[in-house]
Amino acid sequence: MAALDFESVSHHYGRLRALDRLSLSVGEGEVVCLLGPSGCGKTTALRLAAGLEELQTGRVLIGGQVVADAERDLPPEARDVGLMFQDYALFPHLRVLENVAFGLRRRSAAERERLALEALERVGLADYARAYPHTLSGGQQQRVALARALAPGPRLLLLDEPFSGLDQRLRNEIRDSTLHLVKASGAATLMVTHEPEEAMFMADRIVLLRGGRLVQAGTPVECYFRPVDAFAAAFFGEVNRLWGRVEGGRVRTPLAALDAGGLPEGAEVEVLVRPEGLRLLPPGAAGGAPGERSDGLGDLEARVIAARLLGRTSLVHLSLQPAEGAALHLHARVPGRFLPDDGDLFSLALDPAQVFVFPATGPISVQGATGAAGAEATGEAVPEGGAAVAETP
Ligand code: ATP
Repeated sequence: MAALDFESVSHHYGRLRALDRLSLSVGEGEVVCLLGPSGCGKTTALRLAAGLEELQTGRVLIGGQVVADAERDLPPEARDVGLMFQDYALFPHLRVLENVAFGLRRRSAAERERLALEALERVGLADYARAYPHTLSGGQQQRVALARALAPGPRLLLLDEPFSGLDQRLRNEIRDSTLHLVKASGAATLMVTHEPEEAMFMADRIVLLRGGRLVQAGTPVECYFRPVDAFAAAFFGEVNRLWGRVEGGRVRTPLAALDAGGLPEGAEVEVLVRPEGLRLLPPGAAGGAPGERSDGLGDLEARVIAARLLGRTSLVHLSLQPAEGAALHLHARVPGRFLPDDGDLFSLALDPAQVFVFPATGPISVQGATGAAGAEATGEAVPEGGAAVAETP
């Protein structure tokens, strides 16, 4: 039995459709991240699960029990859920212990205090029980909010952008401790985020939304390596985007001739190559007639425009001059320190696991994906023989 089920849930604000027949489930003890660009309906879904928004269409079940459908809509306190919001929503006039005890109504005062203290101990803040929220740092306030959500031992935790108020370094630390706390609690968790890396860090499974619709649901590995469309591929990480046409069962691109994956002859396609899927080889490693190679090796040599160390990886900007048309700007990401000189030449090879071929759909917006492909596709017309643009954060 799932901890949470959405069955074909649709939601409108006036004429605006925020959710469109969304079905999803969160298993017992599972962490599921609702991911997508701003305005795709993530918070609406979370609020519907919590009972903070009145259900319009579909059904919501918690622990197999219907909590909202055409006939009923249970209030949040009757749903066995722990809630945590982006702004933490701590009561400024209540001490930390009282804030945490707030979610423990219907218990004796002694029991509330005991459970609240226990929850504070779990998040390492028992010493701050008597403090007021404004005297705590952002990270401490986040942990108080988490303790409050966990204190009643809910079946389901609902977290709305729980790390967005924290600076980057603290965020990584708090994400880590939150994941361990949530897992140790055994509660099923539905968490909203617009950051793919955060979703991949936290989630057992990711549900990617766009325009109120489910695009893909799967493990982080499935979403990253088997994206269902160009939007999903680009949302999970920077891509080099090329366009081409299917000819003789293959897509000819300036990088290599690729398998067209069963797409019909003459179809216009988009080819997305992750920067880490672009391998740099010594010049001359490739060969053969332009556009005809099928071994993943490129025919052309690319020239280094710039190379930068980004910490764990190096990013190499490359310019590739096809036989015809404008030069292509590509990004390659190489593990560790790899800093060739500007002007150096490399042959290019593709890692097939990092190359995705989809029917061309026109311009695709991936706004809001910070730390990944945060740019919009240019939407340029498809040039003859293909083109490429590296989409960078
Ligand atoms: P963000 O990441 O920016 O918080 P989101 O994916 O959580 O976005 P929602 O907050 O669920 O998206 O909003 C979905 C759509 O519904 C948006 O277009 C938003 O402007 C609209 N919307 C949300 N709440 C309301 C409301 N109370 N009244 C009218 N429109 C709303």
